[in-house]
Parts: sequence; C-alpha cells; structure tokens
Amino acid sequence: MNITDIITSGLLAENKIHDRIIGIYWPSECSCKVNNKIIGNCLRQIYWKIYGASITNPTKVSTIRILKLGSIIEENEIDIAKKCSNLYVADHIPFKMDIEGITLSGEIDAIYQQEDTCIGIEYKSGHGYYFTSRIFGSSKNPPLPKLKDIMQVMLYLLYCKDHQYNNKSIQDFKLIYIDRGTGLSKEFNISLNNKYPIIDNQEYDDFSTDDIIARFVQLDKYVKKKIIPPVDFHNYYSKNQIKKMADARMISKIQHKKWDDNGYGLDWECEYCPYLNRCMTKEGIR
Ligand code: SF4
Repeated sequence: MNITDIITSGLLAENKIHDRIIGIYWPSECSCKVNNKIIGNCLRQIYWKIYGASITNPTKVSTIRILKLGSIIEENEIDIAKKCSNLYVADHIPFKMDIEGITLSGEIDAIYQQEDTCIGIEYKSGHGYYFTSRIFGSSKNPPLPKLKDIMQVMLYLLYCKDHQYNNKSIQDFKLIYIDRGTGLSKEFNISLNNKYPIIDNQEYDDFSTDDIIARFVQLDKYVKKKIIPPVDFHNYYSKNQIKKMADARMISKIQHKKWDDNGYGLDWECEYCPYLNRCMTKEGIR
C-alpha cells in the first residue's frame, strides 16, 4: 500500500456518519420553502442519516479533502482573530435550543466584539464559478449569501436574543465567506426584524424563523413515526423533461449537454447525496 492509499483510508474512516439521537437536529440541517422550492436540506436524506441507513453513494475522497480544507481555513481565521487585540471573545460556543417539541443543537463558530457590542460569527467557504459569482456578485447580480446559510444564522440569532455573552446580548451576526480558490473573503451582516432576516440593512420577507422551525417539526414527525419523508428534490429527469427544461431556459447549455450525455438529469442536491441509489430504488427508478 502506498502512502496515498493509507491516507485515503483514513479520510474515508473519519467521514463516517455520526450517531444521532432522535428529536435532536442540527442547525446546519435547516431548510424551508422559498418561492415554492425547497432550499436547504432534504428531509429524506436527514431521516436516513438519523436511522443510520447504509450509504449507497459514498462521498469521493477528493470531496472529503476539499471539505476538510474548508474547516482548516475557518479554524485559521479564528486563530488569527485570537491574536488581534480586543476582537476575540469565544469560539465553538455550544448552542442548544428547545423549541416546538424538538431540540436544535450545534456550535456557533465564534463570538467577536466590536466597540461595545458582541457579534456572532459564522464562517463558510467554497470555490468555483457559482460560489464566486453568488458571494462576490457579478455584472448581473449583487453579492448575496446563500439562503441556507442565512437560515442557519437566523436560528442562532433567535437563540442569542435570550442569552448573554460578556454581559452583552447578540443582535447581529456576520456571515463570512472565504473563497478556497482565490483566498478572498466577503462578509455579510445578518440580523432579525421580528422573525425575518435583514441582510446588510435590507429586509427580506421570503422566509421566517417560524418557517425554518416548521420544517424541523415536520421532519421530527416523520422520524418519530418512522415514515420515510417524500423527496424534496428531483433525483431523475427523463430526456423528455430535460428537453422541456432546456426549451424553457431553466437549465444552461452546459447542464443540458451533461444530462443529455448522461441519459438523465438530477438536481445537484441529489447528485451529491450519499443515499442516491437507495432513493432512486425507493422511487422505482433503479
Ligand atoms: S437523492 Fe435527492 S431526494 Fe433522495 S434523499 Fe437524496 S437529496 Fe433527497
């Protein structure tokens, strides 16, 4: 065995699905319906994770490496913050919120202070054309954080309004993105107006904290009744459907060609799902 093979086995072993407790969900598993489309996590995928269903489509080692790189970059940002005077307050702060009969549990990346206030920090990283044009903006669109990341931060803000750090409550979060390809970073200010997000002083009313929590409650019902949730995304588009989507300009020419060559199409959420084959079998596709 060469070194790469040994490291590869180590990476795969570390990437095991965590043991879960029924009724406890992670803020990063948030989702909700925005403009009639589910944004965020698929309830069926979380259901299978919670019940430890065997993986049918293991994550590629290259993807595991890239994700690890993201964590290392985020940790490094916090380490640097610790060395900056009057900035760092705490990191990896436990988060546990009992709400609507469920528990949300996780960690807030960091809390920093600016002048007299404490602010929550959530780091994210990514790379590639779609990430860069979304986060940093393009000639057509202004910079905008990912909706799923906003939802996660909204849950932290909901929790923080009843908790204090250094005798100060947290009203604002910064969602900080780091581009793994270019090393550039971009931060967004997120706060809540009642239950709706404010992003860089602009109010949005597409989804509220109630909507996000309602999806967790819906998931909890499936989990406790042991009913596999319906699919939230499409794991199969036929050639006919692909053509219709291309004619309606719902997909790019590159996507059209990729799906056409493949013989079928699928949403990107399903493309990276560790249970894709299991899901397709359940739907009678494979
Ligand atoms: S394949 Fe798609 S729909 Fe099925 S569980 Fe995975 S993400 Fe959900």
